[in-house]
Amino acid sequence: MVLELTPEQQAFKKSVERFAREVVAPRAAAIDESGDYPLDVMRAAGARGLLGITIPHAWGGSGLDCVSYALAIEAIARASATVAVALSVSTSLVAELIAHAGSERQKQQWLRALARGEAIGAFALSEIDAGTDAANQKTRATKSGGRYRITGRKVWVANADAASVAIVFASTRPDARSHGVTAFLVPMDTPGVTRSARADSLGVRGLGCQDLELDVTVGDAAVLGPVDEGFRLAMWALRGGRVAIAAQALGIGEAALDEAIAYAKRREVFGQPIASYQAIQWMLADMATELGAARMLTWKAAASKDRQDKDMVDASMAKLAASEAAHRAADKAMQILASAGYRRGSTVERLFRDVRATEIYQGTSEAQRMIIAASILTNS
Ligand SMILES: Cc1cc2nc3c(=O)[nH]c(=O)nc-3n(C[C@H](O)[C@H](O)[C@H](O)COP(=O)(O)OP(=O)(O)OC[C@H]3O[C@@H](n4cnc5c(N)ncnc54)[C@H](O)[C@@H]3O)c2cc1C
Repeated sequence: MVLELTPEQQAFKKSVERFAREVVAPRAAAIDESGDYPLDVMRAAGARGLLGITIPHAWGGSGLDCVSYALAIEAIARASATVAVALSVSTSLVAELIAHAGSERQKQQWLRALARGEAIGAFALSEIDAGTDAANQKTRATKSGGRYRITGRKVWVANADAASVAIVFASTRPDARSHGVTAFLVPMDTPGVTRSARADSLGVRGLGCQDLELDVTVGDAAVLGPVDEGFRLAMWALRGGRVAIAAQALGIGEAALDEAIAYAKRREVFGQPIASYQAIQWMLADMATELGAARMLTWKAAASKDRQDKDMVDASMAKLAASEAAHRAADKAMQILASAGYRRGSTVERLFRDVRATEIYQGTSEAQRMIIAASILTNS
C-alpha cells in the first residue's frame, strides 16, 4: 500500500496553495464580513482551471483525479471556507453531474463554460420539508403539450447569487418518492425563476444562498439523465460533493491548527509561552492527529471515486470524520486563543462559525451515520 501523493499531485497541491495564499486568503475576512458572493475570486479560480479540475480536457477541464481535487479544496478552504464550498458545488454537484449524465447538447451548452468558471452552477435539491428526507419533493414537474411545468420552492441554493444554471430536482411521479424524481437543467434567467430570499447565515457567509420560487416551463432538452431517475443522480453527485466537503472541513481544521500553534508559541502566561504547558500541547496533538486520520479517509474516498467503486460509503465516512474532527479542532483553537479567539473578527472566530456547516450540508452527520450503518449492516 502506497500512501503517498504522486509528483504530479504534489506539484498541483503546491500551485493551488500559492493561489489560495495570494488570491483567496487576502479576501477571506472581507467575504465573511460583507456576506457578498466572491464572484471575482471565483472567476480568478476559473481562469486557473480550478472550477473544472475533474472535468475531462475535451470539455475544457483539467482532467485530473478526485484526489487532486480534494487537495485543491483543502488548500482553498484553509484560506476561505466560503470560496472552497462555492467552488465545490459548481464542480461536484453541477459540472460533474452534467459530464456524467448530460446529453451532448447539454454538455456543449454548459460544461465547457462551467469548467472554465465562465458560468457558475447551483444545485437545487433541498426544500422546506425535503432536507435529510430529500426524496420528499414537493416541487412538481407536470408534462403537458410536450413541455414540463415546474412549480415549487427550493431553499438554501448555494451559488444562486451568481449562478447561470441550476440543476433543479422535481417530482414527476409524486407517489413514487425517490423513484419519481427528475433532474432538470434550468438556466437561472428562465422566466419564472425568482430568487426569493437570501439566507443570512452563521458561517460560510458569502455563499450566495437563496431560496428559489419556481414556476417555469421547459422542454425535454432540459431533462438531465433519464426521467424519474433524478434522485439516483443527486446521490451520485453527492458522493463527490461529500469528498469535497470532507476536504473543505480539513482545510478549516488545518487553519485552526495553524492559528493555535502560532498563538501558543507567542502568547506568554506565567512567564512562559503557553505552548510549554502540557494541557495546550495535548490539545494541539489531538487536533493534528484527528485531522490526519480524517485526511486518510478523505484520500481513500477520493481514490475510491477515481476507481469508480460502486460502494459510496467511503465518502460518508470521510465527511463524517473530517467535519467532526474539524469542529473539534476549531473548538480547541478557540480554547487556546481564549479571549483573543472569541473576539469578533478574529480568524479563529470565523473558522469556528464556518466549520459548523460542514456537519449539516450535503447530508447531516446523522444522515452519514445512517448511510454507514446501513452499509455495514448489509455487508457484514
Ligand atoms: C450553508 C448551507 C448551504 C446549503 N446549500 C445547499 C445547496 O446548495 N443545495 C441544496 O439542495 N441544499 C443545500 N443546503 C441544505 C442542506 O442540504 C440541508 O440543510 C440538510 O440536508 C439538512 O436538512 P434540514 O436542514 O432540512 O434538516 P432536517 O432534515 O430537518 O433535520 C433536522 C435534524 O434531524 C436530524 N434527522 C433527520 N432525520 C433523521 C433520522 N432519520 N434519524 C436521526 N436524525 C435525523 C438531522 O440530522 C438534523 O439534525 C444547504 C444548507 C446550508 C446550511
